[in-house]
Amino acid sequence: MAKPNTDLKVLIVGAGFGGLTAAIECRVRGASVIVLESNKERRQLGDIISFGSNSGRIFKAWPGVEEALDAICHHSSGLDFRSYDDEFLCRQTWGAEAEWGKRFNGHRGEIHEIVWNHALSIGVEIRLGSKVTEYFETDTAAGVVVNGERISADVVLAGDGVRSTARTIVLGFEDKPKSSGYAVYRAWMGTEELKKDPLTAWLADPKIDHHVGWLGPDVHFLVATLQQGTACSWVLTHKDDADVEESWSAPGYISEAIAAVPDWAPIVHSIIRATPEASLVDWKLVFRDPLPTWISPKRRITLIGDAAHPFLPTSIQGASQSMEDGVTVAVCLARAGKDNVPEALRAYEKIRYPRVLATQRTGVTNRDAWHKADWDFVRKNPESVKLPRQDWVLNFDAKTHAEEVYEKTVEELRADPGWKPDPTL
Ligand SMILES: Cc1cc2nc3c(=O)[nH]c(=O)nc-3n(C[C@H](O)[C@H](O)[C@H](O)COP(=O)(O)OP(=O)(O)OC[C@H]3O[C@@H](n4cnc5c(N)ncnc54)[C@H](O)[C@@H]3O)c2cc1C
Repeated sequence: MAKPNTDLKVLIVGAGFGGLTAAIECRVRGASVIVLESNKERRQLGDIISFGSNSGRIFKAWPGVEEALDAICHHSSGLDFRSYDDEFLCRQTWGAEAEWGKRFNGHRGEIHEIVWNHALSIGVEIRLGSKVTEYFETDTAAGVVVNGERISADVVLAGDGVRSTARTIVLGFEDKPKSSGYAVYRAWMGTEELKKDPLTAWLADPKIDHHVGWLGPDVHFLVATLQQGTACSWVLTHKDDADVEESWSAPGYISEAIAAVPDWAPIVHSIIRATPEASLVDWKLVFRDPLPTWISPKRRITLIGDAAHPFLPTSIQGASQSMEDGVTVAVCLARAGKDNVPEALRAYEKIRYPRVLATQRTGVTNRDAWHKADWDFVRKNPESVKLPRQDWVLNFDAKTHAEEVYEKTVEELRADPGWKPDPTL
């Protein structure tokens, strides 16, 4: 690790997983860090979120965080696949990838709280109710305007999520979200109703966390139970060509969720019917074309996380890649030092861009492998529905990688000052 960067001042916009990871990793390298979050209180909506072993190793490096996550996360040795009419297809186990590291799946808000508290405990300052409305940069500084106040630093990391305004303000890049043609009904609930129904009672097992996926033509339904059989989360991905509204809180209706799987197995209908309607959301799956660059003209502001690159959930990598961004940008800033911030941001972009692009594409390939499956083929080859577990995605250590390639990357950029990412690769 580079020597502590005790005089580097970092401003981070957005306290999502990308912003908080960048904050923690910059702070442990000695920078002073302020995170500006528009929400007035720590509030993370949502339901189940998955962190692969590539981000699991980032959590594990933060003292006390692994233990806190273990207490609330889902623990199962495998995922059972069944057909829409409830024929058992196969079980995908995770033992083979144990050496890649630990995965963490759990409630987004609960995991976020643990990371938030860790950031505070190491001296990250988080300012709530701080909506950034302007960005500025000079050759020697960058900053933002919040509630009429100008705040300056050496560098600004804009992790303001999929609806990022930094994209427009910093890069002048105005793009509309595009529909992916799909939406997801999502729910997080207690298991009281499941326990009452003989078809579903087994899911509320206090000793075993269950993970089951029912697959059918252009629809998939995944269920996970956790916290000693007291909690259950499910997602139902279905075709949806409606106009995209990038809202997480679009209400979902039980009758519409059932209508998306009309002739499916009774157990699927039972799980949906056991859901309190108030906890059901219908989330439109949107994507955006890759940006031509993530960094500002004077190279003192960069986008990180979903602001730079939204992910489809079927990649199971959105949050993990935002954490890899946070680690990588922190390594680059520490290696470059306060006097070379523009070089650090260019190196960050060059290191991350091709990997993010390739990982984003797995969202489409993973989804289509299930949704476009030939069912005659699947019945004869049930193992074909297993999730591809790419070792180049999961068996990856962002911190070590950034440390290893930083010097070479900087040399390449010095030799080619006009280098730009290639979104078509
Ligand atoms: C409400 C919500 C619920 C989600 N639920 C799930 C889920 O259940 N499962 C899943 O897999 N993924 C979920 N995601 C997506 C997942 O969390 C992201 O892909 C991933 O964590 C990327 O994180 P990020 O830090 O880049 O962005 P986000 O997690 O979106 O964080 C961005 C942060 O920036 C803040 N912000 C935005 N604009 C400003 C501004 N102008 N000034 C200051 N702060 C600002 C936002 O309030 C937010 O806290 C959810 C995202 C959101 C926003």
